Order: sequence, then structure tokens, then C-alpha cells
Amino acid sequence: MLGGLQLFPMLKIQPLSPERVAQMAAGEVIDSLEAALRELLENALDAQASRIQVEIWPSRWQVRVADNGQGIPASELEQVARRHTTSKLDGRGLGFRGEALHSLARLGSLTIQTRHAADAHGWLAAYDRQGELTHRQPAAMALGTVVTVADLFADWPLRRRSLPQTRPLLTLVQNAALAHPWVSWQVRQEGQLLLSLWPGQSLQDLLLQVLPQVDPSDLRYRRIREGDGDWELVLGLPDRLHRPRPDWIRVAINGRFVQMPEWQRVIQSVFQHALPRHRYPLVVVHLRLPPEQVDWNRHPAKSELYLQDPEIRQEQLRQHLHALLQSGSGQASRRSVHLIRASEAKSVYEASRQPHLPFNPAPAAPACSAPSLPPLKALAQLHRIYILAEHPQGLWLVEQHLAHERVRYEYIQRHWQPVELETPVMLQGLSPQAVEQLEQLGLEPEPFGPNTYLMRRLPLALWSEDLEEVQGSLLELSRCADLESAQVAVACRGALRNGIPLTLEQMQQLLEAWQRTANPHTCPHGRPVYLALAEKDLARYFRRRWGICDRPISDPKLGSWWELEPLGDRFAAQVRCSSSASAPEPRDETRSAPL
Ligand code: ADP
Ligand code: MG
Repeated sequence: MLGGLQLFPMLKIQPLSPERVAQMAAGEVIDSLEAALRELLENALDAQASRIQVEIWPSRWQVRVADNGQGIPASELEQVARRHTTSKLDGRGLGFRGEALHSLARLGSLTIQTRHAADAHGWLAAYDRQGELTHRQPAAMALGTVVTVADLFADWPLRRRSLPQTRPLLTLVQNAALAHPWVSWQVRQEGQLLLSLWPGQSLQDLLLQVLPQVDPSDLRYRRIREGDGDWELVLGLPDRLHRPRPDWIRVAINGRFVQMPEWQRVIQSVFQHALPRHRYPLVVVHLRLPPEQVDWNRHPAKSELYLQDPEIRQEQLRQHLHALLQSGSGQASRRSVHLIRASEAKSVYEASRQPHLPFNPAPAAPACSAPSLPPLKALAQLHRIYILAEHPQGLWLVEQHLAHERVRYEYIQRHWQPVELETPVMLQGLSPQAVEQLEQLGLEPEPFGPNTYLMRRLPLALWSEDLEEVQGSLLELSRCADLESAQVAVACRGALRNGIPLTLEQMQQLLEAWQRTANPHTCPHGRPVYLALAEKDLARYFRRRWGICDRPISDPKLGSWWELEPLGDRFAAQVRCSSSASAPEPRDETRSAPL
């Protein structure tokens, strides 16, 4: 005894038993029910399943994944759950460690029901804690595999401190679906259907199912093949979609969503000053690369990786996002459709409008390959605030101050280098923080008396012959916390104010300069710059495909050409799309029904 501290003799150094080592390794791979599900999903995907059904019973610490994949040959059932056994040495699919089934057998009770094409019937197999096959019997089933893990962590009570949550399990399935859009998915919990996703062509198709509240016209999607890399990128337009958390900045490499902090930073930097403060973008990126360019052996859960040429890939990501952000299609946002709806509700027409008259703001077609903003022609200035501009698919209202602010902001960023002033400018009443801020911006204020400083330098973008203007810009800079906010503040300060009249030519110039910006959708504070009204929504609003008839329709033939709807004591008629071949195709959509 030494002051109450009891000393034990040191034990001799000895190797851990293989049993102990295997247990520790299993615990690393499978640390939760979520991890068990992750491994089973990956196996199903590697078996090239096109249908995957997940069933979870959190209260029983049980999960089952059924797939219609290749199945496991009967001859391999004996070794499938032994440690470090795999059939994936060719490097295809999601990669191998040959540990998952073994770990699941160690930590829970593992059964596999499977049928491979080479076998006449299926098999049901059960395994013990060492991953050895203990029982096998024939089973009737279609091609595929059903793996069940029950009683997970029964012997590891510390891992069972709280019941598994449903949300992370669902997120796991959603991510797997986003990265494998050709698969159909179902998730049940304790028998109740929680999620059902059907196959699509692309990441965007699946994203719209996972986030049904998102309007397709608010997304931009692009698939880019670049050398040996195959990119899929979806982003939410920053003026229409953003999140309070960075939970929808997601990156997948070769079919698996991964933690890539550097890529997260690149994505956030692209959206910097395109979003309101404290908001995050919606960006999902999937990059497929040849397997030899990816090393998954960085983390037992394969949630991190080593990538070949990471800097080159990051730069490609940045460029693709910038290009996608800059693209636009002139499509109406759901917001503008709502606007039309709202104005419809207020319109005089409302008084005589019947509830049957269909006004269905059909969702715009997915915006997938819009190359750039459409050419805009300035038509008029409204309230000295908005520029009304026309383009082939509709018209836009562009807020003049915000558009100019965006133009100025990007100009300022490109021309920030300091220049010497011919006549120094004097600033008075500067606080010590203001002086410090000017110093940090490299503008070197010179003391010139109490609280008074002489300024001899100025960022090129802020140069003006008007000394008062220069003084104002410098004072604005002195009030900002950092370079970014200084650039935003001076961009806003010098931007065209609302209330200023503009000629058509000035408006056109502003529109063209604004369209050349890297991110035309929002001002640097994240406010939307324009509202798009699509011609097809306007047509719908003005019911140009519709005619109203004053009297009941007697000609029975009309019914085969026109869809008739009672409208009070009259009828509304719409061209039937599926009309017979003899039905006259109206040339002029704006005419009324032939009544
Ligand atoms: P790994 O996936 O790294 O190979 P696992 O322990 O997860 O290791 O799986 C071992 C082997 O079991 C796989 O290589 C595969 O051959 C087979 N297997 C597991 N699950 C399935 C499945 N759902 N369908 C077909 N084969 C499977
Ligand atoms: Mg596996």
C-alpha cells in the first residue's frame, strides 16, 4: 500500500487469444443495428439485386434484408460466415473485407436463406458464434438471399443502452437508393411499411422520391463523364432551396456515401454568398471511378477512403458545381406558380369560377440539362424596382437592386487588389476596431490626429473620382468583421437603388451583365434575384386550351373530340389528348371550342 493506492504486480506480456481478437474486430465492424443493416445492404447490392426489402424490429435488435440477387451457392454456405472470406477479390462492387457476416454471427444470431441459379432449390442455414454452419435444410424460394440477424449484442449489454432509432436506419436506405437508382426498395418496421422507393434513371429521380416536397424545377441535375470519372450532381437552386443544417450536403464515391470533409468545404464555398446567413445548400454528388483509384481501407465501416489525385477531383467538383449553379432554364419555380394561383384567387374571374374548372399547376419537367440562362429582352420597368424581361419560354421579373448587387459583388471579388490614391482621403471618428479592420484588409490607415486617419490605398473595385464616395466605401469597409462581409457590404452600398428610373438600354445592359455572373440566382445575401413566370403556366392561367360554351352540347361527336365539364349552367371544353384520329387538331390553341 502506498498512501491508500493499492499496487498490483504487473502481469506478464502475453498475446491475446484468437477468440478475443476476433471479438474485438467484430465489435469494430458492427457497432450498432445501423452498421448491421449497412453491411447487409451492401452485400445485397454487390449481389446485383434489383429489389431489396428491409425489415427491422428495433425492440428485438433484429434486422432482415431480402434481395433478388445472385444468391449464395450451396457449396459456399459452409464458409460464408468464417472470418476473412469473400468472393469479391476482383475489386468490383462496394469492396470487400470478408468480415461482415462473421462479425454478425459473433454478435447476434445469423441465419441465411438463399438460392443460387446453380442450385435446384434454396437452403436455410444457421450459424454459431464462431461463424460455423450449425444447421442446414432445403427451403423453397426464388433466386436471391434473405439474411436475418436477431438478438444483436445479446452478450454485449453496454451496446444496448438505448433502443435503435428508426431515422438513421431510413437514412441509410435512402442513401443506398440514391447511389443505386435502378433498385426498388421497401422498408418495414415491426411489419409496418415505412418507405417504398421505385427504380429511376438517375440520382435526381431518387432524390425527388426521397424528398417528395421538393419541386423538380428547383433542382439542377447533370451527369458528366470526364476522363475515367463519371459524375452525377444534383443541387437545389439557392434562391429556392436551402436547409438549416448541412444534412443534405452528401457525397458518394463508387456507390457508397462517405465522409469527405474537404469536399463538404468545397461545396459550401461554392454556395458562399448565394444563401441566406446560417443556411446550407442541398447538394448530392456521386462520383464513380475505376476501383483501383479508391482505397477503402481507411475505416472499418468504409465511411472514409483514400482517393487518387484528391486535389484534381476537388477542383473538378468545384468547376462542375459552378457551371451547374450558373445554368438555368427559365423554368417557373413553384413559387411563381403559387403566385399565379394567388393572383387567380384574387382575380375578378374568381367570382364566376366554378370549382370544377381544372387549374392544375402541373409540376415542371425535371430541369436536367439547361445549358445557361435564356436570352432576356428588357421590356419595361415596374414601380422602379423590377425589370420585366421576356424570353422564349416566358417572362421574368428581375429585382434591379439585387441583380446589380450580384454583378457588383462578383466584380469586386475580381478587382480587390489595392491601388494608391492620388489624393489621400481623411477618415474621422474611427474606433480602434475599425482601424484594425482596415489594417486587416491591407489598407494601412495612417494616424493623422485624434481619431483621424489618412487613407492612401483603396481596393481597385471601389475606385471613384468622387472623394465622398471613396470615403463612404472606406467607412463601410471599416465597419465589417472580415473580408467576405466587407465585399458584400460594399457591393450592396454601391448597387443601384430601388426607385431609380432606368431606360430600356440601361435595363438591357444590367440584364446582360447579371446573366454573365457566376451565380445569378441569388444576391450575395442569399435573396432570390428573379421570379420566373413560365409561358405554359400563364397559358394555363388564361385557360388558352379551354373554351367555355354558352349552351348544353347536343352534338354527340363533340364528346369524342373534347373533354366536357359542367361549369354551372354551361360547359367547359378541353381538347382530348387521346382523341380519335379523325378528331380535328386545333391549330390555334387560343381559340374557343367549336360550339
Ligand atoms: P464481403 O462482403 O466483404 O465479401 P461479407 O462477410 O459481407 O464479406 O460476405 C461474405 C460473402 O458472402 C460475400 O463475399 C458474398 O460472396 C456472400 N454474400 C453475402 N451476402 C450475400 C448476398 N446477399 N447475396 C449473395 N452473396 C452474399
Ligand atoms: Mg459485405
